Amino acid sequence: MTYDHIVIRYGEMSTKGKNRLQFVRCLKRNIAKKLKHFPNLQIEALRDRMYIRLHHTPPQPVIEKLQEVFGIQSLSLALKTESDLQKIKEATLFFIKQFPYEGKTFKISARRADKQFPVTTNELNYELGSYVLKNTTGLTVNVHHPDIDVRVEVRKEGTYITAYDVPGAGGLPVGTSGKAMLMLSGGIDSPVAGYLAMKRGLQIEAVHFFSPPFTSERAKQKVIDLAQRLTEFGGTIRLHIVPFTELQQAIYKQVPENYSLISTRRAMLRITDEIRKKENGLAIVTGESLGQVASQTLESMVAVNDVTTTPVLRPLISMDKTEIIAIAERIGTHHISIRPYEDCCTIFTPKAPKTKPKKEKIIQYEKFLPLDEMIAETVARVETITLKPNEPLDELF
Ligand code: ATP
Ligand code: MG
Repeated sequence: MTYDHIVIRYGEMSTKGKNRLQFVRCLKRNIAKKLKHFPNLQIEALRDRMYIRLHHTPPQPVIEKLQEVFGIQSLSLALKTESDLQKIKEATLFFIKQFPYEGKTFKISARRADKQFPVTTNELNYELGSYVLKNTTGLTVNVHHPDIDVRVEVRKEGTYITAYDVPGAGGLPVGTSGKAMLMLSGGIDSPVAGYLAMKRGLQIEAVHFFSPPFTSERAKQKVIDLAQRLTEFGGTIRLHIVPFTELQQAIYKQVPENYSLISTRRAMLRITDEIRKKENGLAIVTGESLGQVASQTLESMVAVNDVTTTPVLRPLISMDKTEIIAIAERIGTHHISIRPYEDCCTIFTPKAPKTKPKKEKIIQYEKFLPLDEMIAETVARVETITLKPNEPLDELF
């Protein structure tokens, strides 16, 4: 006997009624992609949970991969046995003996998904509990706060015995909420915003503004590495790199210094929106957090947002920097984000940007720029890279 299965419990999708089938399919596809380097695994998706047959694959690396897949509430190692009382008793005992159980308390939580099974839930709890007690020493029952909660689930196809749930990433399977464009800088915030957007089931494509020679190839590589890291949570990500130098310089020449940042942001949002249209995205995601810097006051957001009616999602809007950093560290983007290469916006940041910009003024200043043409030209020169999961990060820099 051995742990031969991983049981996957779905997150919120269980409440999604009719869409459930689509959710399960999407989750299965995402899991299959995530586990493609484990050839022996077999995934079986049911309405209310999923089973992965290990076929002798060591479980720990598989569990670690699964913990990065959105849509999973929890997972645990399981033992599968025939739905026969004696077999279940033996398997339960074997299962408990895998733990250092001396001096511990336990409880059996049986569930009879197969109502044809001749033993009721209460009888099962009793039968299995006494069998375990009879065949072990130093183990006692505690039904309220057990150290080991052994779950026994009797189903038609077999009985699964599990304990110790490992938390999953939660959220919804990536792809079930549609597609959005993530404005991805090389900073700490936007990768976290992308992660949280994917957590709610959004598929993302990333858009990065790049201003050579003011920003280096290494700054670009940093963004590629960030997007690559995000693929571990969301599957393939297309990264659109926008050559922004000419447009940015034109803005700085034409618009007074204290308004240039707002104008630059407006141009960035317009370009992102154009790329979104081409790629059939529904929304734009940014890493903005209210009041964090001059361009993130509500007045600035209003002035920037004025160029589009496309929803701009800001998952970090109410978070403090320390909270954002904690997530960045946990998801493995922080060490990439802190590489010291300049972003296009940092280089051109004015000394005293307007924190309460006036819309009429912006429109007046921008009138003197051939913005429509410049934006169309810029969009035509966008370079797109496709990044796939399971590829090594370029950690050379
Ligand atoms: P981040 O840590 O994400 O860079 P930040 O705190 O530095 O954020 P800003 O520089 O004001 O804040 O950027 C706000 C948001 O605008 C970013 O989170 C990102 O979504 C977008 N953004 C900024 N610079 C770029 C860029 N070069 N390319 C794409 N998006 C960008
Ligand atoms: Mg930044």
